[in-house]
Amino acid sequence: MTAQIIDGKMISAEVNRENAENVALLKSKNITPGLAVILVGDNPASQVYVRAKVKKCEELEITSFHHVLDKDATMDELLALIERLNKDENVHGILVQSPPPPQIDEQKVIESIVPEKDVDCFHAVNVGKMLLGRTDGFFPCTPYGVMILLEKSGIETAGKHVVVIGRSNIVGKPMTALMLQKNPHANATVTCVHSMTKNLPELVRQADIVVAAIGKPEFVTADMIKEGAVVIDVGINRVPDASSPKGYKLVGDVKYDEVAQKASKITPVPGGVGPMTIAVLMQNTIKSCMMQHNLL
Ligand code: NDP
Repeated sequence: MTAQIIDGKMISAEVNRENAENVALLKSKNITPGLAVILVGDNPASQVYVRAKVKKCEELEITSFHHVLDKDATMDELLALIERLNKDENVHGILVQSPPPPQIDEQKVIESIVPEKDVDCFHAVNVGKMLLGRTDGFFPCTPYGVMILLEKSGIETAGKHVVVIGRSNIVGKPMTALMLQKNPHANATVTCVHSMTKNLPELVRQADIVVAAIGKPEFVTADMIKEGAVVIDVGINRVPDASSPKGYKLVGDVKYDEVAQKASKITPVPGGVGPMTIAVLMQNTIKSCMMQHNLL
């Protein structure tokens, strides 16, 4: 069997069409959503992610406020900028690109963003709301992007055994929580495995749906996959590649070629989960704008 590809570019384009309609609705009321993206330092991968977010804002006619701070910027400078953006009525979403340089306390920075503008859904208030199944906060961009990918691909999660590999606050933990939600597009039985898990391959082999978010290139191999399982690869890893002009190529956490021979459906890297993350970020920014104008 060769797996069917779950096309994140196509599905994210559909989400962005909905986003564009909502922006047009807001514009008809003379309201423009605004997203502030803060980059501290010059990490090349972070620069790529920030550029992609700013570009998508431009395409959707969302105003982007792009702030670049020096790699030696202090916590005080960053907190002062966030305080200003918190109060700015034209800014509906604020995010600080991860990872920041070591002098920056990321958790403290996240908690300094008012929850109403925390469109990444990293703030404890929004994480709490998500866990409770409330819809008056935000959903975390990457895990919710995965939920949309599955739903729009017609892949049922209800009653299925989902194994999430990784337990980070950004991907693994919220992914586990969303899959567990009591709603028709979730309702999964979830196992979350991590670096302290015993018999990881044995657990992954039991999965109907595998979500890999480990940050280890091609970690998931065909022998860990049940015949016909659905495989979602969140990983984005740069590996050296002399044949590429950039000197590197992007690979996921899944050994694509061999796993695609065993899975029924699979996301590619790039072009799978990545574009969904940005589409949900835009969705959250628009939602924030609507909520701040009492339109939701
Ligand atoms: P983290 O490094 O924060 O977390 C990795 C998780 O994987 C940890 O929970 C860790 O376990 C677990 N892990 C690491 N090695 C192993 C191992 N050998 N066996 C079992 N578990 C292991 O990464 P992120 O969650 O932030 O990101 C994961 C991947 O997803 C990365 O490639 C990242 O680039 C990508 N990513 C992609 C996004 C997208 O838009 N597509 C968005 C965000 C991330 P433990 O907790 O025990 O240390």
